[in-house]
Amino acid sequence: MTAQLIDGKAIAGQIYDEIRAEVAELKAKHNLIPGLATVLVGENPASKSYVSSKQKTCTEVGFNSIGEHLAEDASQEEVESLVQRLNADPSIHGILVQLPLPRQLNEEKILGMISLEKDVDGFHPLNIGRLAMKGRKPLFVPCTPAGCIELLVRSGVQIEGAEAVVLGRSNIVGMPVSMLLLHRNATVTICHSRSHDLPGICRRADILVAAVGQAEMVKADWVKPGAAVIDVGINRVDDPAAKRGYRLVGDVDFESVQEVAGHLTPVPGGVGPMTIAMLMWNTLAGARRAAGLIE
Ligand code: NDP
Repeated sequence: MTAQLIDGKAIAGQIYDEIRAEVAELKAKHNLIPGLATVLVGENPASKSYVSSKQKTCTEVGFNSIGEHLAEDASQEEVESLVQRLNADPSIHGILVQLPLPRQLNEEKILGMISLEKDVDGFHPLNIGRLAMKGRKPLFVPCTPAGCIELLVRSGVQIEGAEAVVLGRSNIVGMPVSMLLLHRNATVTICHSRSHDLPGICRRADILVAAVGQAEMVKADWVKPGAAVIDVGINRVDDPAAKRGYRLVGDVDFESVQEVAGHLTPVPGGVGPMTIAMLMWNTLAGARRAAGLIE
């Protein structure tokens, strides 16, 4: 078998087209332009580059983008008062505080201060709490996990009733993606660094989500023939032949697993492009909610 590749770039492109169409309608009918505020504290090069791609994408889909940049030594009070100001600004429908924050700042407190209605990253404890409860709906779902589900749905993979195995239990990927699969009625097993017999557990999966940060850990003999495999991992491995001296690989051994899986996401070009697409989707939802168009 050769797996059908799930093209995250193409699916993200479809989502951007859908967003642009909705933005045009919001503008025409409600005179409303979705606005996303990004809060960057310090000079971390990776954070700067993530924030700038989020801002660029905002412009591409027709949103207003408001970039706030505080110094590396910003105090807790400074960041909190910025978040309060953004909470009170009706032209802003989403607030994204880029993580990690410098060490002097209390990250949990800052994330907890973001207005629930503007928590487009989905990390507010109340949104996470609702995600963990049966029959409750968070206002926003964290972007990378939401992107994993969107890839499965748009590729026609049946989630209801499926055996799903999630490798990893982090707050930003493993735990929320497990909750989302459960909400869609999969039977979910969550594995972590203390789990025994990972290959045996993974072989049961109709849907396997790998989010461990271990280069090419999932081998072909861990995968049930025909399974849908979503590779969230992004790992650098040395490669003297590559221009930068390294290349990016996922948590899944792509070459061997593509011979067994039914669907498979590549790295790069699978889950990666979906994270910003879902952030834009969440911001649009924030604007639609502010206009009273959705609950
Ligand atoms: P974390 O390091 O926060 O969590 C890793 C999880 O994997 C933990 O639950 C850990 O278990 C588990 N784990 C680690 N090693 C093993 C092992 N050998 N066997 C079994 N379980 C193991 O990582 P994140 O969730 O933040 O990220 C995971 C990967 O996804 C990374 O490669 C990251 O770069 C990537 N990522 C990609 C994104 C995208 O947009 N595509 C976005 C976010 C992350 P324990 O809890 O016991 O420690």
